[in-house]
Amino acid sequence: MSYELKSFWDKVDIKSTDECWEWNGGLHTKDGYGETKYVGNNIYEKLAHRIAWILHHQKEIPKGLLICHTCNNKRCVNPSHLYAGTHGDNNVDTFNAGHCGSGRPLKFKEGELWLMQRMRDKIPARIIAKCFKTTILTIYRNTVSNKIRQRQLS
Ligand SMILES: [Zn+2]
Repeated sequence: MSYELKSFWDKVDIKSTDECWEWNGGLHTKDGYGETKYVGNNIYEKLAHRIAWILHHQKEIPKGLLICHTCNNKRCVNPSHLYAGTHGDNNVDTFNAGHCGSGRPLKFKEGELWLMQRMRDKIPARIIAKCFKTTILTIYRNTVSNKIRQRQLS
């Protein structure tokens, strides 16, 4: 692990995939997001959750996209709770009425989501994404937000 990665994740309260990993770096913005500094090749980032996404996916955030939380916890930097979405995504889902919604309406059938959810516990998201001919982010988005939904219903 590079120094850069280590010094970042050292400041994170890392737990299981399902739980929120809160930023413990101390600083946070007025909005409540974790704040630090990351300088990449062409990137300068200050928000911890955006940096977590970049470090995890090893690429830049696509232009014009926001990094949204499926968990609505602004201090959370767990890569499985983060996805790249548009400003439009923020308004679509009323379930997560916070800063970022959980994304576009689901395109999968109930049975598919059930299967996806079961697979998610055992199989890496990239493999599941291949099975469903979709992106890893879609898998994260649907499985995590469903878990939160179930938790709220029970
Ligand atoms: Zn979270």
